[in-house]
Amino acid sequence: MTSNTTAVRPEPRALLRGVFGYHDFRPPQEAIIDHLIAGGKALVVMPTGSGKSLCYQIPSLARRGTGIVVSPLIALMHDQVSALVQSGVRAATLNSSLDPAALRTTETQLAAGALDLLYIAPERLLQERTLDLLGRIDVALFAIDEAHCVSQWGHDFRPEYLQLNVLERRFPGVPRVALTATADERTQREIIDRLELTGARSFIGSFDRPNIRYLIGAGGDDARRALLEFITGRHPNEAGIVYCLSRQRVEQVAAWLAGHGIAALPYHAGLDAATRAAHQKRFQNEDNVVIVATIAFGMGIDKPNVRFVAHLNLPRSIEAYYQETGRAGRDGQPAEAWMRYGLNDVVVLGRMLRDSTAGDERKRLERQKLEALLALCEQATCRRQTLLSYFGEKDSAPCGNCDNCLNPPQVWDATEAARQALSCVHRSGQMFGVNHLIDVLRGRRNERIDKFGHQRLSTYGIGAALAAGEWRAVYRQLIARGLLAIGEHGELKLTAACRPLLRGEVELPLCRPAPSTRRTSERAAPSPPAAELTAAGAALFEALRRLRLQLARARSVPPYVIFHDSTLREIAHQRPTTLDALSAIPGIGAHKLETYGRQVLAEISRAAENA
Ligand code: ADP
Ligand code: ZN
Repeated sequence: MTSNTTAVRPEPRALLRGVFGYHDFRPPQEAIIDHLIAGGKALVVMPTGSGKSLCYQIPSLARRGTGIVVSPLIALMHDQVSALVQSGVRAATLNSSLDPAALRTTETQLAAGALDLLYIAPERLLQERTLDLLGRIDVALFAIDEAHCVSQWGHDFRPEYLQLNVLERRFPGVPRVALTATADERTQREIIDRLELTGARSFIGSFDRPNIRYLIGAGGDDARRALLEFITGRHPNEAGIVYCLSRQRVEQVAAWLAGHGIAALPYHAGLDAATRAAHQKRFQNEDNVVIVATIAFGMGIDKPNVRFVAHLNLPRSIEAYYQETGRAGRDGQPAEAWMRYGLNDVVVLGRMLRDSTAGDERKRLERQKLEALLALCEQATCRRQTLLSYFGEKDSAPCGNCDNCLNPPQVWDATEAARQALSCVHRSGQMFGVNHLIDVLRGRRNERIDKFGHQRLSTYGIGAALAAGEWRAVYRQLIARGLLAIGEHGELKLTAACRPLLRGEVELPLCRPAPSTRRTSERAAPSPPAAELTAAGAALFEALRRLRLQLARARSVPPYVIFHDSTLREIAHQRPTTLDALSAIPGIGAHKLETYGRQVLAEISRAAENA
């Protein structure tokens, strides 16, 4: 595509339009690109889906020589390279999954200066012969993707990343950029130190993922049915991920969804490798597959058009929640993060924590993280504000795109009820779980109550005015606020923090539990993506999706590598009739226009005839 021998280098904006088919840079992109083209070093921390790739792809095309991209995830490399090739960029990979002939071909191309971009696994880059080879060619820049892998404290630590500082010595003067979506300040410093990015300019984006709508509800009992309604009502025929805590639950939920006509597939560490790979592949290559998974599913998932991530259980922490929900909407289009959880999740997670082999300090930390998550789930105010403030962005405004903003929950004064709930724990000896306590409060008669003589407690029957669900909400929120702790067998115990409330020194405003019909605006809100289109537009969108699938199958690439959903939607909306008009649609660069333009126009005119 670009010729490395011409003296005139293409402008970033010309590359953005001509190659990628986009009209404008997103705010930090242009500054990063200019800085790298000028030969600078940079650290880029921007959330998933914000467009980090262009930040090194465009400088690689604009500078003389080949851009070298270090990436730890082979599956991601292949997708990126397929997408670039579709845009007419000369890109290739070097990693252990290639056969010797393919490796040789790539090395020959590289040596001949015939590549714009090379994606390479770190262990491959560090081999002496690779470094030698690179020493003999023009290197446009080094991009180190997933740079948080240098951190020994993180979950994704890769020892080879620690040796990447060799680039500073072997290639002084070649621009280097480290990129990641997740790095707190300590990790940022670690990246700069370990990669010896001395003097690098930092570009730190907001953590916010404005296109993701957060919807969190309590009520573990009918969670499965609520999930089914959510998927069929708001995301029919769309790709999504459902997270569950256990393998058994994964199997059950996948079977239940499949039984209701949803293309749902299970994924967990107990399945054999071939099945897992097959399910992941279908998810990646088709547009309507819902993966039901344990947290084993995620690393290396780069599908841009995941329209929802659902949690049927509480995740372990806000970090985990943010990372898992972050897999939705990487293409920047509307997506939803949906959760239903119950008190039982808190009990199970608490037990897992207690039984883990971690040291006391670690356990305390993990417990705090779980409490922070529970507080997020139980709060009545904007969820996004809490998420952002958790990650250090303290002064954001209410977002207007979460359940609590769209539909502010009613708050009631639960001070008296909370006192009764605590007192019931105290009077029954701090040995009982929530269900029993609620039976006592509501004055039920059953074997357990008889057995312990709890009909004689002073708290027996004092709470008959509230429904069981309301009591459950009171208990959940007392736990979320640390006024009650959960013991080894699920029994509730008072903590020191409950004293001010018992003494009447503080009040406790609580949200009303949401009956499942309450969140009407949740249903009325447009369900992305097809809802903005007219009926005819939606039909064309579907026809274009079918065409895309056909084109993708013929080339053995995932569909989104051909066109993003947003591009198809814009086509369905505008219905261009000429190649010129088609080229104005975002996401259609010169090469795609040439390769697919006529087929797309044919589909549009066919739709017009049928209408
Ligand atoms: P990240 O690596 O930060 O997760 P990507 O580089 O994969 O994000 O980009 C996410 C999506 O945004 C991709 O579909 C990409 O094509 C699109 N994108 C990136 N930059 C722009 C832009 N300037 N205009 C329109 N779309 C863009
Ligand atoms: Zn909000």
